[in-house]
Amino acid sequence: MEDRINYPEIVYFLRNTIKRETGYLKELEDFALKNHIPIIQPESAAFIKTLVMLKRPQRILEVGTAIGYSATIMLEAMDKSGIIDTIEIDEQIAEIAKRNIKKMGYDNRIRVIIGDASEVLECINSPYDLIFLDAAKGQYCEYLEHAVRLLRPEGLLLSDNVLYKGGVVQGENAPHKHRTIAVNLKKYLYEICHDERLETSVIPIGDGMAISLKKGELDEKD
Ligand code: SAH
Ligand code: MG
Repeated sequence: MEDRINYPEIVYFLRNTIKRETGYLKELEDFALKNHIPIIQPESAAFIKTLVMLKRPQRILEVGTAIGYSATIMLEAMDKSGIIDTIEIDEQIAEIAKRNIKKMGYDNRIRVIIGDASEVLECINSPYDLIFLDAAKGQYCEYLEHAVRLLRPEGLLLSDNVLYKGGVVQGENAPHKHRTIAVNLKKYLYEICHDERLETSVIPIGDGMAISLKKGELDEKD
């Protein structure tokens, strides 16, 4: 599906303007490109990095590890005591992620959990300061209750690919191949925008990123 979110010349300009990764992260980008692994776009990576530095989370949960690229981006923006749990269903790709994470010396701070996110999330009870959703796009609605449950008050929920190359606008009218995901993502967007527990804004950066703040518990004095 053709990308219909931003003008190509703006995307090109942005990618050539922001500071780009070098060293090991650049190698991961090249590996992803060569092997058709959909890692976050550079401009989304820069956006997440800034948010992590602003929020200073101690614990991050990522859903959808792939080769460990976004986990590394986030970890390097965290304080030295921060940790990341990241869930990946594909054992082969999870092994690649583990290898990459070990090579960078981050294996004591990034834990790769292999399994179907819906099942793994059921088993998690410890809270997180930031949750990054970037796995099966058709299942975001199922992840939402867990994400809200697992987020601390004032925690951040970041959801990637919520505009799905623009296909989400078409919803029911999206081409057959993309319809289920487009319909589900449209429903998800509506839910996070109207959930009383969240304050959400949707940024048309990369493939569309939603940022939802879990509202703090009301101060009794108010
Ligand atoms: N966050 C990564 C990219 C993730 S791509 C980055 O930006 O670097 C999405 C990943 O989600 C794929 O590796 C895919 O195998 C995984 N995935 C798909 N369905 C899943 C599920 N149900 N549970 C866990 N992971 C899933
Ligand atoms: Mg993504």
